[in-house]
Amino acid sequence: MAKKDYYEILGVSRDSDEREIKKAYKRLAMKHHPDRNQGDKDSEAKFKEIKEAYEILTDAQKKAAYDQYGHAAFEHGSMGGGGGDFNDIFGDVFGDIFGGRRQRASRGSDLQYNMALTLEEAVRGVTKEIRIPTLAECDVCHGSGAKAGTSATTCSTCHGAGQVQMRQGFFAVQQTCPTCHGRGKIIKDPCTKCRGQGRVEKNKTLSVKIPAGVDTGDRVRLSGEGEAGESGAPAGDLYVQVQVKQHPIFERDGNNLYCEVPINFAMAALGGEIEVPTLDGRVHLKVPAETQTGKLFRMRGKGVKSVRGGAQGDLLCRVVVETPVKLNDRQKQLLRELEESLGGEKGAKNSPRSTSFLDGVKKFFDDLTG
Ligand SMILES: [Zn+2]
Ligand SMILES: [Zn+2]
Repeated sequence: MAKKDYYEILGVSRDSDEREIKKAYKRLAMKHHPDRNQGDKDSEAKFKEIKEAYEILTDAQKKAAYDQYGHAAFEHGSMGGGGGDFNDIFGDVFGDIFGGRRQRASRGSDLQYNMALTLEEAVRGVTKEIRIPTLAECDVCHGSGAKAGTSATTCSTCHGAGQVQMRQGFFAVQQTCPTCHGRGKIIKDPCTKCRGQGRVEKNKTLSVKIPAGVDTGDRVRLSGEGEAGESGAPAGDLYVQVQVKQHPIFERDGNNLYCEVPINFAMAALGGEIEVPTLDGRVHLKVPAETQTGKLFRMRGKGVKSVRGGAQGDLLCRVVVETPVKLNDRQKQLLRELEESLGGEKGAKNSPRSTSFLDGVKKFFDDLTG
């Protein structure tokens, strides 16, 4: 399958500078990031494509090779079928996203923490303590990985760069240094606590402030609270992913809240006042006479104010007429009397909906037979 042009993938012109390429990449990567499009294979493929184009076009050497030879620059020998083996040559391009370990001494992995919130917490904001297992900098070697009293030496193969140039056909590619595995340093006497990794597993407690108005799927980023980097490299970020629990009364849709309020049919027919719940307490709602089941009453500004700003949503109360149950003899008698008074000629006046429905049904069968 023919590969798409890297410039086209990022939607930039061939003479774009690095800044423009980065900008285009950021915009597209945000849109197609697997975290935002969970389970969406198209997005995942698109994201890989974007990332690949970005990795090539922001690496001066690879960009030059690509500009000169196109995709042929990367389709030789060991690459075989192309695409899939990409990782082997360019190392950890996808390592951080698809769960693989990075080989180079690099920034720690990002972590994700799923936090369940009640609707009230999500609407008002909350500060919560969380405990997360993470890799933290080793306190014995302070991240260097070398035993106390010794220090890591610069790798003599790559002179500390972590990468070496290999000739592949008629051009050169960068490869992870085989001696130091990309770290740029050689540890002769590894630290005994972290076995030379520079990091140890640790639980840490963090206080996370969730802003008011968040909803399921929103993420709060805690910069630098992810895994510690290898050999003193910067730590990754921690993403707290919000999941709002189901509420016994309210259902949220965007900034609006919905609730269902049962009323008895005497109230529905005659009208009256009821109490309805809001997140700030009870309020009175006037039910007009002749209210039908399913009617929505809107209470402006009693919904949610989104974390993204904008106007506060509304509370919509759906009134449901409840059929009485467990009637005693007297109540049954009263209802029979009521039924009688509603029947016959008067029916059309008291129950216009039933009457027009029955008329419609009659017309339907008349049309069928006639
Ligand atoms: Zn250590
Ligand atoms: Zn090396």
